[in-house]
Amino acid sequence: MSDVIVLGAGMVGTTTALALQARGLDVVLADRREPGRETSYGNAGIIQGEAMEPYALPTNPVELIRLGLGADNAVRWTLGGVLGQAGALLRYLGNSRPARHAAISAIYAQLVREAVARHEPLVEAAGAGNLMRPRGFRQGWRGQRSFDAALADAERVVKTYGIEIEALDGDALARVEPGLTARYAGAIDWKDCWACADPGGLVACYAALFEARGGTVLRADAGTLTRTGAGWRVTGETGPTEAARVVLALGPWTPAALRPFGARVPMVGKRGYHLHFKGERTLNLPFMDTDVSAVMSPMRDGLRVATGAELVPMDAPVNRSQLIKAEARAREMFELGDAVEAEPWFGTRPCLPGMLPVLGEVPDQPGLWAHFGHGHQGFTLGPVTAEILAAAMAGERSEIIAALDLRHALA
Ligand SMILES: Cc1cc2nc3c(=O)[nH]c(=O)nc-3n(C[C@H](O)[C@H](O)[C@H](O)COP(=O)(O)OP(=O)(O)OC[C@H]3O[C@@H](n4cnc5c(N)ncnc54)[C@H](O)[C@@H]3O)c2cc1C
Repeated sequence: MSDVIVLGAGMVGTTTALALQARGLDVVLADRREPGRETSYGNAGIIQGEAMEPYALPTNPVELIRLGLGADNAVRWTLGGVLGQAGALLRYLGNSRPARHAAISAIYAQLVREAVARHEPLVEAAGAGNLMRPRGFRQGWRGQRSFDAALADAERVVKTYGIEIEALDGDALARVEPGLTARYAGAIDWKDCWACADPGGLVACYAALFEARGGTVLRADAGTLTRTGAGWRVTGETGPTEAARVVLALGPWTPAALRPFGARVPMVGKRGYHLHFKGERTLNLPFMDTDVSAVMSPMRDGLRVATGAELVPMDAPVNRSQLIKAEARAREMFELGDAVEAEPWFGTRPCLPGMLPVLGEVPDQPGLWAHFGHGHQGFTLGPVTAEILAAAMAGERSEIIAALDLRHALA
């Protein structure tokens, strides 16, 4: 019998397995797919050392209506998508009030500050340096007024959290990104970010590192999880595997997996899409066009155009409208070339109304732990909260463990 089974081999589960293993535990990492093939595959690939404040909803009614009307392509919604998560959305809105959001951001910033430093030794030990790009992530604005306003806010962030930016005017941006054919009023380069050219590949390298250090990776479905006399069992391709404890790190699928164990967690699922394009010229660093809320990331597979948030049920059919707008803008920006795939990839950002990821033991289920809810920044934060979870499982207590306690997220 092992010490711990981690269910879910995305960025969060894989780094959880590594953190527990580093504490001397015998760990099994189980997933129904290969490691890093879901949300942790399809994201924009940015280790967001700048994301000190989680995305809030606007609390000003005019801005909220603008967002609801899809004015800047940031959000698309369907009635079913909003009504199906209405309770969670209302709580999310409540937590977006400035005082509440500032308190949440103070905790979030502690996590984000550690992200690059937590990834660095893993990237090195996993031999994944070839997947990483130079530091930075750029955000561009076409209009001078909107750029000036964004720069003022970025300076507030710099002052509050002590991070580094470089402001680029249109000419300076054109010099550092010669592939850009569109003219921008200016851009902000967030220097504390680190981009990855193959996010799923990085998770796969981390999983291989876990195996090389003696861990076991296997295929199993969380639906087979049952309690045994001494612990927990999952049954996979190679038969049953047992451990004293189990961690559910199933990203957006975690709330559904927790239900049979009596835990109800309201979640806001924000779907995003991407497509790759194989143009002649690409970008040096990921670039966000703020007018269409799309991130263009240079990846191994081509230039990845990724969209903002779509509030729809997790099994809703594909709707290409945000992607169409993002692609149209990207065609103004580069010689984009043809799409690599016929159908877009999509995945769901697991966002909790409290805007913080959670971890902890499920009430009345000794040995059953959960670790999820990393929203827009799970690729960034996986190794950070993995360390905190490992400390919590070792019986340590701290303010940050209390702040991320799973019980805050329960209905
Ligand atoms: C378009 C888009 C862009 C993004 N850009 C960024 C970014 O630039 N930077 C950033 O930090 N974050 C970004 N994110 C968010 C980030 O991708 C997620 O927060 C993160 O990937 C969540 O990781 P996870 O390990 O919790 O979930 P996942 O990666 O989804 O992993 C969950 C795992 O559980 C497995 N699983 C599910 N159900 C079962 C089951 N029943 N049995 C067994 N296994 C199961 C899945 O196969 C999967 O491997 C983006 C997200 C999207 C959608």
